[in-house]
Amino acid sequence: MESEKKRDRINPEDWPDALYWRSGTYRKGNGTETIDPGRQGFPGQDAPPENTPDQLQDPRLAADEDSEPWFSRRPSWLGRDARACREYLDSLSDEEIIRKYEEARDRSVVWGGAEYYPNIQKLFLTPFEREKDRREIAAWQREYGKGEVAQWYQEAQEQSCVWWIENHLVARHAFNSCMSCGACTAGCPAAEFYDYDPRMVMETVQSKDEDSIVALLKADTIWYCAQCGTCKLRCPRGNNPFAMISSLRQLSELKGYHVHSTRGRQQYTARHLWGGNLWNRACSLYFRNSMVQFHLDFGPRFARYTLNKEEMHRRVGACPDMDGAMPARKVHPDTLHQVRRCLQEGGTLHLWDQIEHHGRQQADESGTDIDDYFYTV
Ligand code: SF4
Ligand code: SF4
Repeated sequence: MESEKKRDRINPEDWPDALYWRSGTYRKGNGTETIDPGRQGFPGQDAPPENTPDQLQDPRLAADEDSEPWFSRRPSWLGRDARACREYLDSLSDEEIIRKYEEARDRSVVWGGAEYYPNIQKLFLTPFEREKDRREIAAWQREYGKGEVAQWYQEAQEQSCVWWIENHLVARHAFNSCMSCGACTAGCPAAEFYDYDPRMVMETVQSKDEDSIVALLKADTIWYCAQCGTCKLRCPRGNNPFAMISSLRQLSELKGYHVHSTRGRQQYTARHLWGGNLWNRACSLYFRNSMVQFHLDFGPRFARYTLNKEEMHRRVGACPDMDGAMPARKVHPDTLHQVRRCLQEGGTLHLWDQIEHHGRQQADESGTDIDDYFYTV
């Protein structure tokens, strides 16, 4: 009976539309998304002040919200919107788009004793933010260079996959210690749900057969791993299969093999979603925009949190779009600068460049606009 009850509570068929609009952040009005101010704030604060600024609307086009697709997060695009969006973004110089973004982001009002920045949420995951990030990251790398790790990555791209296995520190360790016992697969939660077997991944790598490794990198297989770490705990050799998987994912992205599989292609969206958060908000998850339908596998507790997240934020004294200590907030410029330097020196920006390059190439080959590609991969 108990398990029946639990299943009722998380019936995914009931989730998508209903939960999206009840999730505390948005309400639907005239068919468009609007932020529900009544659901945000610090404890004791019912809604932001009435004069809360909204700089996202272009005054020339304010009468027609649909004319601003670059500030939209609608997942289904029509050709007209995609074309209008691209024409507008292309009309802006690098300096203009960065300046406009920063002006919108930094517009604030005092609310609940602290600065509140409503546009942080509105800019999240928009074509405008993605285009700004592309230009800004390119400018950043021109100023600071690629960094040592990125140079090593560039060298590795020219080598074989076997060379990578033998030289990438993480892969080399995992490669040498596996005795193919299968304990990792026996305890792997991903193996229970997918056609996935970490021991077979290790065996493929150990075969040192270039063709087999390339086939593995082009398949969905390596993207099924949830990086939960159970395999490391189970391994009698203290091995770390999930580190090997992580290393193989990097190699797949560097070589551009990831675009051959469905899960691999989705790295384009992941790069801009979590990568965009890291670049702009110095955290990978922006709490205000977590949506149940994207995380059905997180179960009923996450669903409950998502349904009530604004209330939960209030209870712990957090507002993700305010100055302060909680994550997903307005990050101090010095902190953001340091995080960006880490991303650059650690080679992350080079990996993002490769994902961007291969995604764009695939989008061009199929005649798809890059923002359509973002939504549909
Ligand atoms: S449990 Fe360890 S030794 Fe056994 S197959 Fe998995 S990685 Fe290899
Ligand atoms: S980290 Fe990946 S391979 Fe290891 S147990 Fe978890 S899902 Fe399986």
